[in-house]
Amino acid sequence: MSHVFHRNSNNLPPIGMKGDGVYLYDTDGKAYFDGSGGAAVSCLGHGDQDIINAIKRQLDSMAFAHTGFLGSQPAEDLADLLVKHAPESLEHVYFVSGGSEAVEAALKLARQYFVEIGQSQRSKIIARRQSYHGNTLGALAVGGNEWRRAQFAPLLIDVSHIGPCYEYRNRRAEETSFEYGQRVANELEEEILRLGPDQVMAFIAEPVVGATMGAVPSVEGYFKRIREICDTYGVLLILDEVMCGMGRTGTLFAAEQEEISPDICTIAKGLGAGYQPIGATLCSGEIFNTIKNGSGFFQHGHTYIGHPTACSAGLAVVQKLTQGGVVEHVTAKGQQLLDLLQQEFGRHPNVGDIRGRGLFVGMEFVADRGRKAVIDPCHKFNSRLKAAAFDAGLICYPMGGTIDGRHGDHVLLAPPFISETHHLEEVVSKLATAVRKVTAELGM
Ligand code: PMP
Repeated sequence: MSHVFHRNSNNLPPIGMKGDGVYLYDTDGKAYFDGSGGAAVSCLGHGDQDIINAIKRQLDSMAFAHTGFLGSQPAEDLADLLVKHAPESLEHVYFVSGGSEAVEAALKLARQYFVEIGQSQRSKIIARRQSYHGNTLGALAVGGNEWRRAQFAPLLIDVSHIGPCYEYRNRRAEETSFEYGQRVANELEEEILRLGPDQVMAFIAEPVVGATMGAVPSVEGYFKRIREICDTYGVLLILDEVMCGMGRTGTLFAAEQEEISPDICTIAKGLGAGYQPIGATLCSGEIFNTIKNGSGFFQHGHTYIGHPTACSAGLAVVQKLTQGGVVEHVTAKGQQLLDLLQQEFGRHPNVGDIRGRGLFVGMEFVADRGRKAVIDPCHKFNSRLKAAAFDAGLICYPMGGTIDGRHGDHVLLAPPFISETHHLEEVVSKLATAVRKVTAELGM
């Protein structure tokens, strides 16, 4: 019996032994194509010697120093590099160890900012249904996934949720995409007015929704309108790029493609590329300077903030991501992956939507393509798909969730940026094998 407390203690995973390029291997030597980078983490694949050597060098010189006493050069250099490539408003970087921590820091930073400018009545947060922002209590509270929240609801802070931007299911026939985006963005304004404009501190959203919806980008103009509304009412805009940031969508920050700049932005996953656990919360000069010139102290922190070894990994990763050609390759290969999925599944009766941006691609499964009817949750379609894909040697990220009160199944693909055409063909072919198996099992 394993003494590791696995999340699913009745279904233990095999032990992983080795990672090499796009593949992971278990102790039996079976190879798995890491088609989702775990959960959109391993953006540069496995066994990258440049990153490993950077980490080794840091371990040899100074593995750790508490930032209450000493800073570190990798943290300085990584912050400089991130700010150089970040949307223009983001000027300072607060390092943490993962995505949930980055979101917690973002929420507390927003709150402390308003306290410091004498608007301590601002404490309300607005987020979106069908979002995931992490599993710690603050991050879980802003997330909109009912299933994840349900049993912890009594412990969660009160957060308002508006609808997601989810064109496939919610655009009305008479609307253009643009009109649809403006309509759902305006829900934010309605909610701010309902709560009282001077009560609201922040709106948080993922530019491309990952875990709960399977790579759903917003429609053109949506985030510009969101930015406008936040500006009108003095509400801070927090973009959660934990999953979709760091080149995943074809630009280092996903916000670049929305042509907006947030006040606060969270990143993680791809930042350490799986070589080290690291996340970060970036904020505007206005927020940073308010605290610097006010109390002078951000009242938040963990032992491992700015961990030198984690920052050395992040630095090596971001250096690679910002070397010419990488994000362009992501854009080109992302389009190729979408095309391959269209060829394979474009007419499949149980595939309703194929979508994504860059190498962040999702597919939504339905019982009936014409009616977009969701698959009965009793079928556990997504768990079956995960198992069937795994058998076929593919790690992908199938999820089921409630879609505005209804069940929905999707799969998320986030292959490493080093993927070439034959790799993507392998992903699609293995996924097709898995889908065939599950639909046959269920008599679909
Ligand atoms: N925000 C988003 C958008 C995420 O996708 C995730 C993780 N899936 C998190 C936050 C939480 O990150 P972590 O699991 O590293 O705490």
